[in-house]
Amino acid sequence: IPLREDVRLAFNEVSFKYEDGNDVLQGINLNLKSNEKVTFVGRTGVGKSTLFKLAMGLLKPSKGSITINGIDVYQIPNSEKRKIFGYVGQSFHIINGTVAEQISLQDHNITRKQIEDALEFVGLMDYIATLENGMDTKVTSDTLFSQGQKQLLAIARAIVTDPPILLFDEITANLDSITEEKIVSVLQKASQAHTILSISHRLSSMITSDTVVILEKGRVKSAGSPEEL
Ligand code: ATP
Ligand code: MG
Repeated sequence: IPLREDVRLAFNEVSFKYEDGNDVLQGINLNLKSNEKVTFVGRTGVGKSTLFKLAMGLLKPSKGSITINGIDVYQIPNSEKRKIFGYVGQSFHIINGTVAEQISLQDHNITRKQIEDALEFVGLMDYIATLENGMDTKVTSDTLFSQGQKQLLAIARAIVTDPPILLFDEITANLDSITEEKIVSVLQKASQAHTILSISHRLSSMITSDTVVILEKGRVKSAGSPEEL
């Protein structure tokens, strides 16, 4: 696992298509510096979420490779991936278990202290303290947490292993503007000393980015600082 100070994620001439599908991505080249913040924009269906799955080594490129400091991400064992990548999507999937287990995903290598720190970080500890058994409360109802609280849980789940690379796929899409602001401020705080890839449909919900990558027709149309574009 690369050190946080030296994490270089690279897409090298990456093309991808789903089985029986048309080409989704073609000839993608990206070289991210350590701790770079990159926001991806582009029309629905252009391949943004697919690009994230490729970045995390969950899909195999049809051509080219994705590497971290030269190591092919597709070759990294799944057991290692949670230590490298923290992913937050549009919806939070509750697992059958306690509040603490929502964060650890029952990985016994994750300590109670790590879970507490993650929940504290996203600001959910006060609410959880009001539950009958605190962190050990079984989550039996989908309504125990609000939509916004679920997104905060999702962030806690992503950061609990303190991975150097965080990926956020339109995570404020279904939230009202006040909740969105709160989430963005948590993300802003989480983004320090991390490489961040985010997909954003609205400029307001963007965390401050160094680079904006515009995807069009499966290719990088342009990439540059937000001021340049
Ligand atoms: P959105 O903004 O709507 O989330 P996106 O840019 O994230 O869109 P993707 O979800 O990456 O787009 O999808 C890119 C293309 O790949 C689309 O044409 C989609 O229909 C197709 N696609 C996505 N997932 C699969 C899959 N599992 N199998 C086959 N085709 C898929
Ligand atoms: Mg998507």
